[in-house]
Amino acid sequence: MSWLDDFGPRLAALDAQALRRRRRVVRPEGGMRLNVDGESLLGFCSNDYLGLAGDPLLRQAVHAAVDRYGVGAGASPMVSGHSAANAALEQELAAAVQLPRALYFYAGYPTNTGIVPALVGEGDALFSDALNHACLIDGARLSKARIQRYGHARLDQLAGLLGASAARRKLVITDAVFSMDGDRVDLAALHALCEQHDALLLVDDAHGFGVCGPQGRGSLAAAGLTGPAASPRVLYMATLGKALGVAGAFVAGPEGLVEWLLQQARSYTYATAAPALLAEAVRAALQCTLGPEGERRRAQLQAAIGRLRAGLAPGADAAFDATGWALRPSETPIQPLGIGDSGQALALSERLRRQGLWVPAIRPPTVPAGTARLRITLSAAHRSADVDALVAALRRAARAWPPVGP
Ligand SMILES: *Cc1c(COP(=O)(O)O)cnc(C)c1O
Repeated sequence: MSWLDDFGPRLAALDAQALRRRRRVVRPEGGMRLNVDGESLLGFCSNDYLGLAGDPLLRQAVHAAVDRYGVGAGASPMVSGHSAANAALEQELAAAVQLPRALYFYAGYPTNTGIVPALVGEGDALFSDALNHACLIDGARLSKARIQRYGHARLDQLAGLLGASAARRKLVITDAVFSMDGDRVDLAALHALCEQHDALLLVDDAHGFGVCGPQGRGSLAAAGLTGPAASPRVLYMATLGKALGVAGAFVAGPEGLVEWLLQQARSYTYATAAPALLAEAVRAALQCTLGPEGERRRAQLQAAIGRLRAGLAPGADAAFDATGWALRPSETPIQPLGIGDSGQALALSERLRRQGLWVPAIRPPTVPAGTARLRITLSAAHRSADVDALVAALRRAARAWPPVGP
């Protein structure tokens, strides 16, 4: 029997473990409402934290860009794909995060898998937080450097590993805001450790850019490590498909380091450039994010976060408290509701769906065993009534918990 015949049984094994993942076909219905496989649902699952993804400002920017640039970029940025729009965006991104220079990529995943191997290789040492995003982990593997994992946000453990390393080149990689937990790492303390051990720090701020820091300038600005205080040993990476509402990513930092990445990152050189229409959409989103409208949206987002946390706080509802479900500590739009058991998390997610709410259950292996959760994400586009509907549905579910039957 050929090994090609194995895939059927292997898929069946995924089914047996309830690990097969299915996509749903969605059509936006305005705000955070989506038509999902024919059913209208209020979504608490998007990373569109500022509600920019469907904004008329961005639509207009795209229409104008299409008229001017057409659709595709046609080639790698190293050949003829580096449009005037992409060049202007790089300047504006560097200014937004108050760092000397930025390089604009078509997506976040290939940014990390391209830049990590450009920075370290065989014989070098890489230090990685246990809860880092998959693309940082994959970039680390591609690099062939020796990977040392430290416990999540365990800077004491990291200090020990850095101190014990004999490698000349040491790179520390971390998410700034962790995508499944919503918590943040202390970047100032991490930077101080890197100073002490002559390490370079790469920060992935996919969930912080646009949301955290003054004017949404991101987690590095929040930590006071930008502008005149910018560090020669920090590279900042962020994506543009979350709070900025478009697609793409960038890396920013010291002039020489960013130029090195431009020269060496294979995912940059050997891929077609992001279309100018996307760069123009990001430029419009960036302008909005940094201005008073961005401030207004961040205030709305904070209000939604506060409302959810108050509604589900211990003591607010006895039946809810009795389930043992609890929001994890988080000040960001990612508000995970800890459930524990995978089957229960799935059942709760399904129950909410029947009430018109879409809150995905996140289970192992995406998160550690025994820590299944509902990953609630909030947006400036959620109205108070939307948040209230979610709180009420969770309290109702708590009254009927555990569900009867198998
Ligand atoms: C989403 C995400 C990425 C990937 O970015 P894409 O633009 O979606 O490819 C990278 N890092 C983190 C932490 C993310 O959450």
